[in-house]
Amino acid sequence: MTTSLSAFAQERGVKYFMISFTDLFGAQRAKLVPAEAIADMQENGAGFAGFATWLDLTPAHPDLFAMPDGDAAIQLPWKPEVAWVPADCVMEDKPVAQAPRVVLKTLIDQASAKGLRVKTGVEAEFFLVTPDGKRISDDFDTAVKPCYDQQAVMRRYDVIAEICDHMLALGWKPYQNDHEDANGQFEMNWEYDDALATADKHSFFKFMVRSIAEKHGLRATFMPKPFTDLTGNGCHCHVSVWNTDGSQNAFADKQAPFGLSDKGKTFLGGIMRHGPALAAITNPTVNSYKRINAPRTTSGATWAPNAITWTGNNRTHMVRVPGPGRFELRLPDGAANPYLLQAVIIAAGLSGMETNADPGPHSDLNMYVDGHRATDTPRLPLNLLDALRALERDEAFCAAIGPEFVSAYLKKKREEWTSYASAITQWERDNTLDV
Ligand code: ADP
Ligand code: MG
Ligand code: MG
Ligand code: MG
Ligand code: MG
Repeated sequence: MTTSLSAFAQERGVKYFMISFTDLFGAQRAKLVPAEAIADMQENGAGFAGFATWLDLTPAHPDLFAMPDGDAAIQLPWKPEVAWVPADCVMEDKPVAQAPRVVLKTLIDQASAKGLRVKTGVEAEFFLVTPDGKRISDDFDTAVKPCYDQQAVMRRYDVIAEICDHMLALGWKPYQNDHEDANGQFEMNWEYDDALATADKHSFFKFMVRSIAEKHGLRATFMPKPFTDLTGNGCHCHVSVWNTDGSQNAFADKQAPFGLSDKGKTFLGGIMRHGPALAAITNPTVNSYKRINAPRTTSGATWAPNAITWTGNNRTHMVRVPGPGRFELRLPDGAANPYLLQAVIIAAGLSGMETNADPGPHSDLNMYVDGHRATDTPRLPLNLLDALRALERDEAFCAAIGPEFVSAYLKKKREEWTSYASAITQWERDNTLDV
């Protein structure tokens, strides 16, 4: 039985619902619906003009309806009279194939048909910056080695503790918060969950972090590389696959190297094989490519990968196996669309399992020092256009994610690339004015 949102409103004193969906660029769009009208909206959906939804629809398309998922509703801990409800997009009673939450649910159904349940945890790093976004917000936060900086995290205690208190109240089981490797950068960790629940929490987390930061007169950004000389915002994703009732981790095998079972290895094989194409989704912006393949930052390491390699507990590779029964994909960044991030990991992993994909030998190199020695290793795309081309070329992967989604995504992202490529930048002036 799906949760009745009107009963939810009555029980909890909710006055308004945000019926929210995520577009192809990862932005959340919503309508604010009074509780008095929610019963009808839950039945028929909230209407949106297709063209303005950024799902590659035209003004000639019929209305799009966002159907709220009542079971996923979250009452805003900082404004309890409002609840956020992620929604699934439909048009003329059919799911909109390119809508990110629909893409993910389709892949989860495919995994489930094979008796598999994917569980994931994300590490969504962010910066607290000034309202104009030009610099970090704490003038005291200047240490050259700022990771785990005790004084700096306490200077932002009011913001961080407020967010963590909310996660505790929501039952997310947060377990640690820290100052990260860049000045002005933070990370907050909560417990892993089913892929759809993680995607919803990840979306809500971004909304919550921005909202609480704004309450304190600050701005939070998940932008992959906001400052050239500082470590960027990663969004590592930890992955394990379980049986349907969640009682057994199919990736865990204590006897196997790194504790990763054969199933885990073929899933990982899919991630490695589709690495360049994956980047088009996990690293979806022009700016993303300034985080991966990056030169050393002022802290001494970028912590972002530069090649398609995997390893044991070594943080210089694209994939790390930190302990038995899971791996960590270190490729994704803060701009990754929470739903598409989960969807492409499942798509690549399932295709790896189906084809018995071999992840190849692991590497023990310190890639930041000896990466040049990994000469036969495929590299990650150097820019968004290369990544989009890699995605388009990888036909098996496109088929696995869903061709309608891929064609809409490639079209909108190519438009973004063209817009970027036509901008004249200061770098060009600096390097070309006197040529
Ligand atoms: P890191 O050492 O990479 O910084 P963190 O503690 O910041 O690790 O984040 C680890 C994430 O991995 C958390 O969200 C955690 O719940 C999640 N995680 C732990 N075990 C599993 C597992 N078996 N499957 C999926 N995610 C997991
Ligand atoms: Mg109108
Ligand atoms: Mg972490
Ligand atoms: Mg981190
Ligand atoms: Mg990590």
